[in-house]
Amino acid sequence: MNKKIIIANWKMNPLSAKEAIKIAKGTDLKGVILCAPTIYLKVIKKVIKKAKLGSQNVSVENPLSGVGAFTGEVSAKMLYDIGSRYTIVGHSERRAMGETNQIINKKIKVLIDTAITPVLCIGEIERDENHEYLNIVKHQIEECLFGLNKNLLSKIIIAYEPVWAIGKNALREATPAEFLEMKIFTKKVLVNIFGDKVEMPAMLYGGSVDEKNTRWFAIDGGADGFLVGRASLDPKKFKEIVKICETLNK
Ligand code: PEP
Repeated sequence: MNKKIIIANWKMNPLSAKEAIKIAKGTDLKGVILCAPTIYLKVIKKVIKKAKLGSQNVSVENPLSGVGAFTGEVSAKMLYDIGSRYTIVGHSERRAMGETNQIINKKIKVLIDTAITPVLCIGEIERDENHEYLNIVKHQIEECLFGLNKNLLSKIIIAYEPVWAIGKNALREATPAEFLEMKIFTKKVLVNIFGDKVEMPAMLYGGSVDEKNTRWFAIDGGADGFLVGRASLDPKKFKEIVKICETLNK
């Protein structure tokens, strides 16, 4: 069995570097990727020994393409230089701020060019009786991965995050069966685009993951790992999630 990939998405938390160091120390575990706000990456890098570092956004501009003036942006090259080896793209909260599939596509290419693993989030806002949500996810996959060489597919991670199951205002919890359906569907879409010999990327589940539902999604849902929001800020809960995944790795 492949080792589970566990990614912490701290979002815009915590409020101070001191607190960030505390959380990083408390969640510095093997097999874990800590995606912290960019401003904390440098201090976190100094205190972690086992976990890997990731970020939550990147500029669409290719740092290797030459000059340009992009006030306020952080390039993939800068992230790499600071030690970040993973970047979340297409998170629903960034999509809500205007990040389109086309922008995400550019970011994925920039990251791959810079040897950073893109963590591509896909997922529908709501489920409808006519199964239109499948089309929405299909378009996300097709457009976000447009023009990508099929040999590069194994260099990305996909996280299925149904928007209705994310955060403290989630409508309800998703079920492992719903994740499994989406994993099979994603594979079908990828085969349609890249052909049946394509190496599948790891597919994580995200949306209110905690120590109570981890095992359930891994065993019944076939999740290759997890993208964890709120619970990643609580070392006790996060450690429990990692412990459960470790027992499943054996
Ligand atoms: C997320 O925002 O990526 C997420 C999964 O959040 P939460 O676990 O808090 O639902």
